[in-house]
Amino acid sequence: MIYYKSAENIELMRIAGKIVHDTLCMLEQWIKPGVNTLKLDELAEEYIRSHDAVPSFKGYGDFPATLCISRNEEVVHGIPNKKTILCDGDIVSLDCGALLNGYHGDHARTYAVGNVSPEKQRLMDVTKKSLAHGIEKAVIGNHLSDIGYAVQTYAESQGYSVVRELVGHGIGQRLHEDPQVPNYGKAGRGIILKEGLVIAIEPMVNMGKAGVRTLSDGWTIVTRDRKPSAHFEHTIAITKDGPNILTSGK
Ligand code: MG
Ligand code: MG
Repeated sequence: MIYYKSAENIELMRIAGKIVHDTLCMLEQWIKPGVNTLKLDELAEEYIRSHDAVPSFKGYGDFPATLCISRNEEVVHGIPNKKTILCDGDIVSLDCGALLNGYHGDHARTYAVGNVSPEKQRLMDVTKKSLAHGIEKAVIGNHLSDIGYAVQTYAESQGYSVVRELVGHGIGQRLHEDPQVPNYGKAGRGIILKEGLVIAIEPMVNMGKAGVRTLSDGWTIVTRDRKPSAHFEHTIAITKDGPNILTSGK
């Protein structure tokens, strides 16, 4: 079931979204060689709780942390760990969620650690741009699948592939609501987008093939071919004035 949000609900979601945005901005200075990923997680949790919010991911299922931190061939859902040290040349995706006033925000970015190869930089740039192409289609009257079609066609036109097993989602009082928002598919399918729909659009783009698998920790998703993957996500409200990015920090 889809829960459409009122303008008041959306303003509350923007406050949650801003905390998530600001958390990632605060962490940027810490993304450098030699920092362990548990440190980033501790900083994020402290920041979120100090703003009277609650980390959305901690305790979701049995996920133990505030952030999902996924490096290089890890696609999403990496578990922060003291032994996992960021290295020069890594790319690292930080995915963060926060709950405030009963609503969740969900936002992810992939960062360069130190100096990354031009190939990895291009993967990040294309993934970020594929999210922008998806967001452009999040307008009243479009079909849901127009978003995934835009993401996929752009990412594939640049020589990359998009992950099929994990998708974006509706978001609101629950972190994951209907509908699912795939990053692939034909245009003109699925529900018609209406005012008040709030969704997380989150392309996961692989440098190599699309296939992924789950590591033995039960969470971490990696590419099957062990080539790098990038992930960008925004929480978007569909409004009369077009797509409204609730995790833009505004
Ligand atoms: Mg997320
Ligand atoms: Mg999400």
